[in-house]
Amino acid sequence: MNGCNTFRNIDDMNNELYIYNSLTRQKEKFEPIHAGFVGMYVCGPTVYNDVHLGNCRTFMSFDMIYRYLSHLGFKVRYVRNITDVGHLLDDGEDRMSKGARLDNLEPMEVAQKYTNGFHRMMQIFNTLPPSIEPRATGHILEQIEMVQSILDRGLAYIRNGSVYFDTLKYAQTTGEYGKLSGRVIDELLAESRDNLKNQDEKNHPSDFAIWMKATNEHLMKWNSPWSVGFPGWHLECSAMSTKYLGQQFDIHGGGNDLKFPHHENEIAQNMGACNCQPAHYWMHTNMLLLNGKKMSKSDGNTISPEELFTGKSIHVSKGYSPMVVRFFMLQSHYRSPNDLTDEALQAAEKGYKRLFEAIKNLDSLTSALTTPAPLDAKCEEIISLAFDDMNDDFNTPKALARIFELVTIINSLRDGQIPMSDISVHGLEKIKQALGTIIFDIFGLMNESASNAGPVDGLMNLIIDLRHQARTNKDWATSDKIRDSLNELHILIKDGKEGTSWSFN
Ligand code: AMP
Ligand code: ZN
Repeated sequence: MNGCNTFRNIDDMNNELYIYNSLTRQKEKFEPIHAGFVGMYVCGPTVYNDVHLGNCRTFMSFDMIYRYLSHLGFKVRYVRNITDVGHLLDDGEDRMSKGARLDNLEPMEVAQKYTNGFHRMMQIFNTLPPSIEPRATGHILEQIEMVQSILDRGLAYIRNGSVYFDTLKYAQTTGEYGKLSGRVIDELLAESRDNLKNQDEKNHPSDFAIWMKATNEHLMKWNSPWSVGFPGWHLECSAMSTKYLGQQFDIHGGGNDLKFPHHENEIAQNMGACNCQPAHYWMHTNMLLLNGKKMSKSDGNTISPEELFTGKSIHVSKGYSPMVVRFFMLQSHYRSPNDLTDEALQAAEKGYKRLFEAIKNLDSLTSALTTPAPLDAKCEEIISLAFDDMNDDFNTPKALARIFELVTIINSLRDGQIPMSDISVHGLEKIKQALGTIIFDIFGLMNESASNAGPVDGLMNLIIDLRHQARTNKDWATSDKIRDSLNELHILIKDGKEGTSWSFN
């Protein structure tokens, strides 16, 4: 993270963090279970195809939340899983197996390929890696143990080698089923995403599989006391959050499309296994829309991150850089829907450029005044309000609006509309510190024009030179190898009249 950190003391009177808790449907003061520490679990991607921009919105939101909690001084253990088994399609086929079958690959090859792509995209968007990234397939034993605990407590039953969670019994004994999603059990149809072919094995349509017996053709399966099979999708998050964060932890997050059935069933499983609510605060991000409609691959209303960067899509008039996209995401609150349109991206690009222009302008401002000046207090107030906005359930659009008040002040000082005698050395330093902390550390934005002029450009020039030499020597094997390796890294090199150029593809 950026060097100029202004860590605030979490005990400060005005520094109380409030979080909207989806479980209680209200904003609550954040009180961690262990003072100074936060355990946060976020449902990660199902790695059977390329990560889409909607996923990116959710992960960028939790990245900002992780960064802000760290900024407040908490030691955060951030666990984000990789779903590489058990997330079934409506026809009952495992998403990973389907990907493997279509591409003629090992299921693990599919998972690895898309995990790599996911990591690459997270890096491009400058999201910090989680503290732990557990894979569902690496935790089959823990999941089997959890199924056994639920069976031992009488809240599941075995049918033909599969094990089903008994939602009716759970609802009757705890009154908890449906609390998160607001669903009433009698109205629940077979909405859970497990094997629809086996509906008749269930006592009630809302019961869901926690262990499924595999058919002969099923590719990913393991031995268990009940059958050779595989765990239900919801189980991995219950088992892995318990393993790494304990039976009770602070924050559980994901997109709001996961509230039901995934998170509702996760709570049921944890309650079923140990009779305790796993997370104190449930946080849900809202959906990313495209031109006012839900992003959906099937009706073509979708755009991939790569298409957005290159501009190769009917939905945009040009390409937008990763940091412009990140800026665009920050302009809406994580709980509001965010509509991606060409106009909104153009506005975000303008805003992003104006912000980084102001940061550059700030560096050129100097003051001779060492005593307090009239503008100092005003700037400090704006900065303090920006932190208040962040403490109010991570309100990034409001905090960003405050930052733009500072941008106006900086530009007015630079243009001479406000005299430099209105601000002191200390006042300027405060603005620099605050922008460093909020823009770089918390919002995770980077100055793209600065980084392009840095080592990446130098390295690329070196590689392009080496390729040029190889071509001059008619060493086609080396020049092809360089081009192919760059292609694998999604870096495109173009030979033109004015020489060779490169871009991210
Ligand atoms: P999945 O790979 O489908 O399991 O999704 C990974 C994460 O992305 C989950 O937290 C989803 O809720 C979230 N997600 C999926 N679609 C969208 C969307 N359109 N907007 C925001 N988040 C989404
Ligand atoms: Zn999950």
